[in-house]
Amino acid sequence: MPHKLTLIPGDGIGPEIIEATKRVLEATGIKFDWDIVIVGQGAQDKFGTPLPDYVLESIKKNKVALKGPVTTPIGTGFRSVNVALRQNLDLYACLRPCKTYPGVTTPFENVDIVIVRENTEDLYSGIEFAKGTRESDRLAKLILEATQREMKKDSGFSIKVISETASKRIVKFAFEYARAKKRKKVSAAHKANILKFSDGLFLTAAREVAREYPDIEFEDVVIDALCMRLARNPQQYDVIVLPNLYGDIVSDLCAGLVGGLGVAPGANIGDNIAIFEPTHGSAPKYAGQNKVNPVAMILSATMMLRHLGETETADKLEKAIADVIAEGKSVTYDLKLDRNQPAATTSQVADAVIKKLKNQGG
Ligand code: NAD
Repeated sequence: MPHKLTLIPGDGIGPEIIEATKRVLEATGIKFDWDIVIVGQGAQDKFGTPLPDYVLESIKKNKVALKGPVTTPIGTGFRSVNVALRQNLDLYACLRPCKTYPGVTTPFENVDIVIVRENTEDLYSGIEFAKGTRESDRLAKLILEATQREMKKDSGFSIKVISETASKRIVKFAFEYARAKKRKKVSAAHKANILKFSDGLFLTAAREVAREYPDIEFEDVVIDALCMRLARNPQQYDVIVLPNLYGDIVSDLCAGLVGGLGVAPGANIGDNIAIFEPTHGSAPKYAGQNKVNPVAMILSATMMLRHLGETETADKLEKAIADVIAEGKSVTYDLKLDRNQPAATTSQVADAVIKKLKNQGG
């Protein structure tokens, strides 16, 4: 039986890295039945909404989706489809492994960090009040009543919401992941010294959950100290669990430690549904040039194969990718020491990975 999956090519560089990944996946010999759907501006133009119901229905039915990046208009226009998908489908855990592959030039070796980011609340709850609206005036009045502090008339508000339920759920996910993958330490990052009622709640919840996992080391770390330590000595970290906004920022930082966004895969996981997508966005300036690195997208597909129980194929595919990177001949511009050196195209990287896969088979 083929695996029935929802495929979201996305926009910008999305369609080209998805095409490369689809070819690689099909070359593994595993059969897939793709339900291809559109979101973002294309869906807005065709259906009048950036996230049509049929997309959510397809993902709910298939339970697994492979997704390319989707552009979010900045400041105005529709809200992020990426955030909406995670919230609508309750994909509460964002998993972003950041690992150094030999051959990638970085100042650090042997980094192997997994970021577990809470995906549904915090400053990404989407509860915002624009400057000068009736709602923001009402909120300012409420704040004045409750705290005797007067907000400036031209203030906008984005609300940071952290619940005990979601905090416990994500920390539990991090510990379960650590246990399943035989990892040794979970670090919970926060700013509880300043944000006592939001991050403070997250920290209390993390400490409580940690007590259920005496076999795994636990520590908490203030977010700014974490960033400094990651920049100095990233090897001291193993699994890091964070609220949404810090998780977003720190996963890009960790991607930078291991060679950049071109090699940073990811997954958004709920109790029954999972969407696999790279950490990077739609990089519109490179769209249609067959230039960007498909490795983050293909590594995300490797995570998907593991999720589908195709562990052996996932291991083979990861090895094929690692071999292509280690060889250094068929890699894109971002993995070249000198960016003026000739580099492989997106589709040539896929060809090289497929060739390595075939060689392993023979
Ligand atoms: P981005 O990740 O798209 O690109 C930033 C830069 O990183 C690029 O200009 C490029 O230099 C590099 N880069 C990214 N992916 C690469 C790859 N595969 N190979 C080589 N280099 C790569 O970030 P951005 O410019 O801040 O965002 C662009 C758009 O993507 C925005 O609309 C944003 O909202 C959206 N976005 C979507 C997702 C998602 O779909 N999950 C995630 C992040 C950003």
